[in-house]
Amino acid sequence: MQRHWFVFFLLTILNLTTCALAEPAHDNVAWPLIDARADYQGAMADRVAYLVEQGETLSVDEVQSLISADPDALTRPKSSVLANGLDSDAVWLVAKIFNPTDDAILRRVSVETGWLERVDFFLITEGQLPQHFISGDRIALGHRSVAKRIPSADYSFPPGETRLLIRVETADPMVVPLHFSSVAVSHSREQSEAIFYSFVYGVMFALSAYNLMLYAGLRKRRYLFYSLYTAIFVVVTASYNGIAMALLWPDAVGWQQWAPPLFMLCFVSSGLAFATSFLKTRRRRPWLHKTIQTIGVAYFALFAACFALDQQGLALQLAFLIVPVFTVLMLYMGVSSWMRGNQAARYFMLGTLASVIGAFVTALTVAGVITYSQLGYYALDIGMVVDAMLLMLALADLARKNKVARVTAERTAQIDLLTGLNNRRGFLPVAESFWSLATRNKSSMCVAMIDIDHFKSINDQYGHAAGDRILKKIAEELDNSRRKGDLLARWGGEEFTLLLPETDEAEALKVAERFRHNIEQLVVNDCGRVIRCTISVGVASRHAQHVTLEHAISKADEELYQAKVQGRNQISTGRTSDAA
Ligand code: GH3
Ligand code: MG
Ligand code: MG
Repeated sequence: MQRHWFVFFLLTILNLTTCALAEPAHDNVAWPLIDARADYQGAMADRVAYLVEQGETLSVDEVQSLISADPDALTRPKSSVLANGLDSDAVWLVAKIFNPTDDAILRRVSVETGWLERVDFFLITEGQLPQHFISGDRIALGHRSVAKRIPSADYSFPPGETRLLIRVETADPMVVPLHFSSVAVSHSREQSEAIFYSFVYGVMFALSAYNLMLYAGLRKRRYLFYSLYTAIFVVVTASYNGIAMALLWPDAVGWQQWAPPLFMLCFVSSGLAFATSFLKTRRRRPWLHKTIQTIGVAYFALFAACFALDQQGLALQLAFLIVPVFTVLMLYMGVSSWMRGNQAARYFMLGTLASVIGAFVTALTVAGVITYSQLGYYALDIGMVVDAMLLMLALADLARKNKVARVTAERTAQIDLLTGLNNRRGFLPVAESFWSLATRNKSSMCVAMIDIDHFKSINDQYGHAAGDRILKKIAEELDNSRRKGDLLARWGGEEFTLLLPETDEAEALKVAERFRHNIEQLVVNDCGRVIRCTISVGVASRHAQHVTLEHAISKADEELYQAKVQGRNQISTGRTSDAA
């Protein structure tokens, strides 16, 4: 049973109920025998009884005589899996196997939890020598009874009855699901599990690699933390369920005791690092950020102390203690950030919720509170995949919002907010390239400066707000008067500029005249008041090849001044003779 840490914390709670519900076996033959011919699906706590060592280590003979002296010494588990939580005393499982045939039957007995430290199988058939098999993650892979991560023993059950005693010792959660089947069935179970884990780990690694690339490209730390978070999820579960030991460190039994709690801390840290950078906690809620940092540092310091003092059990308990704190913190951060209007936090929260629900369903399944099913059994991993996907969506959503915000900011920087026309920043780059093109092609081009006459008096007379509205109307009218391909911009204040490509001075004069005429005819009705305006226009043509746009604009400005001096509501142009 390869469940990840989250289950353990929930199991510990559930276990209190399970233990309270357990009842004495009374008669040690009252529970059903295991049929040596059968392949049992799933865990089979209904065919076992158990006994918890009260501190002192018992030998197999002591257990045998204890059972025969006092049948009440044995307890029947209430759920489909015996689960005794964290830091349990060693547990003895007792079962009877009956082979009704005349031939021996080879069967695999296994306790499908990948993190149990030491598992001893004893098989006792009358008239035969007791058989003893050893497994567990304190034994190097090659020295186990079956060289697999799951503690197992293969035994040829002779005709008649065989008593099975299994002693399980672990500082990790005591979850003891007994399985009994042929070796082939056990293999196929292993295979479907391998497919499932390949899928889960594949998804997680793909997400991790993808986010690492995003980090390399975008240099945003949240992608790095997310990449770590998903990668460490794989590392922590694989180190717990024994896959990592089987593949990477088959002989490093010492390291195997420390790797899971260490990786659990790393997992929690990377999760919180991601959460704080994603939700911008440092900036938005500095006190929370500080608190999280302090808890993190304190935990690593305590863990280091445990390591120095060789207190592996204590380190495990510390690691398990941080898990509920982590979950509550993540949910709290998600909810509070969402309630403060951070839309991206909703994916974050839903993701965390998915993994919490998944963990809960798995815990209930493993503890036998809800009926065993594959879906229930793997709910935790499925929940974590959903979580990772939703967090990925959250990151994508954030990236999209940032892009939209950037594009909007760039766009608004080029647009005049009052009139909606281009401002200078929007106008100049485009006008410059038009101008260069005209210079290269020696084509004609004109620029006009337009200024509203006596606009100050309009402000004075009707107020600045009315002035704004009128300015907007005039801009609209100018924009409507413009030919397609002519470039109009608000130059500043009540001044506009107009670039006229492929237009010589004579033509520009006509265009300017149309503008002047249209504005003169424009009647603005502002709150019942009829307001009229006029404009003055200065026109300059692309004078000779060396003339820059800047020159032309200042020339048009001079002409505008002339138009003003000459009485306003008119157009002034430079010399008509020297157009290139
Ligand atoms: P002239 O005919 O010589 O151009 O006279 P004018 O009053 O139009 O020129 P002046 O440069 O003396 O004043 C320009 C006025 O335009 C003064 C300023 O308050 C007003 N103005 C500039 N920008 C805005 C604006 O965005 N909104 C409003 N309401 N008024 C503006
Ligand atoms: Mg003016
Ligand atoms: Mg002016």
